[in-house]
Amino acid sequence: MNQQYGRLSNVATVSDTAQRRQMGVVCRNWFLLTSERILATKEELLKTNGYSLQWKMNIETLDHEIYIKRTCELAREAGERDDDPYGSLLVHDGEVIMEETNRINTENDISYHPELVLARRAAEELEPEVVAETIMYTSTEPCSMCSTGMAYAGLGGVVYSVSGEHASELRGGGTGGIPCDEVFDRLGSDITVLGPVLKEEGTAVHRSF
Ligand SMILES: [Zn+2]
Repeated sequence: MNQQYGRLSNVATVSDTAQRRQMGVVCRNWFLLTSERILATKEELLKTNGYSLQWKMNIETLDHEIYIKRTCELAREAGERDDDPYGSLLVHDGEVIMEETNRINTENDISYHPELVLARRAAEELEPEVVAETIMYTSTEPCSMCSTGMAYAGLGGVVYSVSGEHASELRGGGTGGIPCDEVFDRLGSDITVLGPVLKEEGTAVHRSF
């Protein structure tokens, strides 16, 4: 699959969840750029979804890979500390504004997942308009607990390296839980989901711990 996230000349959106999964990309409310499936033109999207497109234009100027690499470093830090190997960060306007790692063992707290901690901090410390334009980057797709927290916080987007399903395969157990886009859908949240991005990096983290 030829994917690009950097330009708006060929803009498509794939609305069917099953189809997106088949393509190997979770792409909710995201304008997937591909040479094969052009489902809407830029003009059509502007007519129906002007605000989202404007925001997506900003998000597309970001280099997702830099941030995903950093989440994998954070995940390794957690793993080396004997916590579960997960790391996340928040980006607003191209700037990393918060970082966190899994600390379930360090803090003896089953809810100490980085995404949930960051969602809580974002809601507490940032203006709602800023939260809505903030992207969560995370080494593995958020679990349903964290996805719920992110929806309640009102974050704008999430980009992950490894899907929950793939992570559970790598870690040898579980079902992978509920995909985050399904949680967002059920909660009526319009958080943009993008992943996997740099899947090999996230996979290598899981294989290390
Ligand atoms: Zn979680």
